[in-house]
Amino acid sequence: MDAPLQIIDGHNDTLTRLFPPADETAQSIIDRNGEGHIDLIRAQHGGLAGGFFAVFIPGSGGRSSITANDGTTLEAGCFDPVDHATARAQTNGVLDRMDHMLKANSDRIRLVRTAEELDSCMRDGVMALILHYEGVEMFSEDLSELEVDHARGLRSLGPVWSRSNAFAHGVPFAFPCTPDIGPGLTNAGKDLVRRCNDLGVMLDVSHLNYRGFMDLSELTTAPVIATHCGVHAICASSRNLLDDQLDVIRGSNGLVGVNFHVGFLRPDGEDDEDTPLSVIADHLDYMVDRMGIEHVALGSDFDGATMPEPMGDCAGLPTLVDVLRDRGWCDKSLHALAHGNWMRVLRSTWG
Ligand SMILES: [Zn+2]
Repeated sequence: MDAPLQIIDGHNDTLTRLFPPADETAQSIIDRNGEGHIDLIRAQHGGLAGGFFAVFIPGSGGRSSITANDGTTLEAGCFDPVDHATARAQTNGVLDRMDHMLKANSDRIRLVRTAEELDSCMRDGVMALILHYEGVEMFSEDLSELEVDHARGLRSLGPVWSRSNAFAHGVPFAFPCTPDIGPGLTNAGKDLVRRCNDLGVMLDVSHLNYRGFMDLSELTTAPVIATHCGVHAICASSRNLLDDQLDVIRGSNGLVGVNFHVGFLRPDGEDDEDTPLSVIADHLDYMVDRMGIEHVALGSDFDGATMPEPMGDCAGLPTLVDVLRDRGWCDKSLHALAHGNWMRVLRSTWG
């Protein structure tokens, strides 16, 4: 059997699963682990060569009503803000445990800080870990911690998760719902964009609301990246991108990693794992028609979302590749989707 296509994946929540913030214990990523969606055994079967590993600060909240910028009111999953001290302590805890894991298994998984390091991981068959922050509550507004964390390996961040912080406003989880909810970036958020550009830290617009997306896109000098989103025209979730957002991403030479979460894929928005992989292909084909093959990638949300049953976990990635091949995707297009486009935008963003 041929080796599976090597895949760089835009988003996983595996660090949160391995190193739960409320718990001192750590699970292993090395051994076959029935829980979750990623370990190194299943990654090898699936061709998962590396990806963006998110530090995420869990929070609390529930359903309440929100008003979109066009005046429409609807029910949505809204989350409370998280304070800086809590987020900082949890982040440091995850980073310490991550460093320990990397040190103990340096022949199997490596932190990647440059495009060259990513290349060599792929060549050597070592899992490439790109450190990403999903929401930056661990930063104070003066951004003094950004350079410290960059020195520890941080190479990508999204200003917000699906809540508000000092920098920006995230979209709540709602369906059907526009992402055009709430105001744009704060002044601290604009500083964050400039400082990330200076340092070569990738900016991710996933979870960001529409006005924040437009502010960030106007300000940034790097390609605009959505690491784990879908197409709003197919599934009208507030987490998905409108057509004019896809056009902005194309215009910036950026990309969208398609999210595998069934609630962001299915036209009915239901959280139902009985979902065929053809629905992921529908989102990808729509993006290719709108933006071109250079601007699509994968952004699974493994360990953070409900997967379609035929995907299961990261060992199911070749099944998706087969679905795309059956639809007429050629080898060149599949390579661009799997890692070529990621390599291009990371080279240009990281310098
Ligand atoms: Zn997310």
